Amino acid sequence: MSETIKTDVLIIGAGPVGLFAVFELGLLDIKAHLVDILDKVGGQCAELYPEKPIYDIPGIPYITGHGLTDALMEQIKPFKPTFHLNEMVTTIEKIGEPGFRIGTDRGQVFEAKVVVIGAGGGSFQPKRPPIPGIEPYEGKSVHYAVRKMDAFRDKRLLIVGGGDSALDWTLNLHPIAKRLTLVHRRDEFRGAPDSVNKMRALVASGGMDLKIGQVSALEGGDGQLAAASIKGKDNAVERIEIDTMLPFFGLTMKLGPVAEWGLKMEGELIPVDTAAFETNIPGIFAVGDINTYPGKLKLILSGFHEAALMAQKAYHYVYPDKKLVFQYTTSSTSLQKKLGVA
Ligand SMILES: Cc1cc2nc3c(=O)[nH]c(=O)nc-3n(C[C@H](O)[C@H](O)[C@H](O)COP(=O)(O)OP(=O)(O)OC[C@H]3O[C@@H](n4cnc5c(N)ncnc54)[C@H](O)[C@@H]3O)c2cc1C
Repeated sequence: MSETIKTDVLIIGAGPVGLFAVFELGLLDIKAHLVDILDKVGGQCAELYPEKPIYDIPGIPYITGHGLTDALMEQIKPFKPTFHLNEMVTTIEKIGEPGFRIGTDRGQVFEAKVVVIGAGGGSFQPKRPPIPGIEPYEGKSVHYAVRKMDAFRDKRLLIVGGGDSALDWTLNLHPIAKRLTLVHRRDEFRGAPDSVNKMRALVASGGMDLKIGQVSALEGGDGQLAAASIKGKDNAVERIEIDTMLPFFGLTMKLGPVAEWGLKMEGELIPVDTAAFETNIPGIFAVGDINTYPGKLKLILSGFHEAALMAQKAYHYVYPDKKLVFQYTTSSTSLQKKLGVA
């Protein structure tokens, strides 16, 4: 297990609002670490609509989800936030007044004076394929993400899916796998044409196998796969021996562990006050799509406003003996120094 990381603020979720929270906290000399279950920052903007235009960010007539994420990353650069991606916050425990111990599914422990929940619509989680009896293999020989490529070295791999993730991992893992088979239900792929062409060239040269059909059954014991049955369109079943299966069926948003943190909830949302966007537990704030209050709009601009007010109150927890003086970035040399522009 890694050493406990101590920080002023732990932000759960690196969506647009979690990212902007780094900026507002940073202006007040508050350091932040961010944890996100995705392998990238930007939340819904990066995962659900990277190429789609957003027209209602104040002062920016047009920007894509990807563009906004990049711009936010540029804006928070001076504050050097630390990101922990591919990691889900699972536990929050109160250890002080205020003070929290936060744990992740990868065994990382943080101690923070303040927790900011920017968990959006919840954690993005992989969709489970409809294969009977898959559960005992999950996390052992069925994996929904590739955290370390080397874990798949010299294995007989079965990759399932027809999108970019399935194709990208097919191309990345085939050089180290003992044998790689890609299964997709039809002979058309949603992934980038270049990846499809590369995959087809590998199949033609005998470097990997492509099967058109669906995985209908699994064999193995104690969580270790031994074989999979693939049912073709003609209902013929082919059995292939495998060590590991990687299904890539896309992501879905689920609330996840947020409901288990002892916070007052309204359905799948966290009620907050509108003065500081603090939850019923002092020192834990909720900003962005995850919170609710009278008149709440699930818009990025609302989340940005919430982050600014959250930071003002968080300051009093982080620096209880200091007085906070309100300043403009336009005229404050002290803020400009923090931004590296003065
Ligand atoms: C198709 C589409 C178009 C949209 N267009 C617009 C628009 O034009 N204008 C606009 O203002 N809004 C738009 N929105 C809404 C906007 O994207 C959301 O309001 C915004 O993304 C909310 O930001 P957030 O940071 O609160 O949450 P999110 O973007 O949802 O990010 C939350 C992050 O938290 C992570 N997370 C959750 N739980 C955990 C956990 N336990 N551990 C670790 N990480 C966790 C998630 O993986 C996620 O990355 C659109 C949404 C969609 C789907």
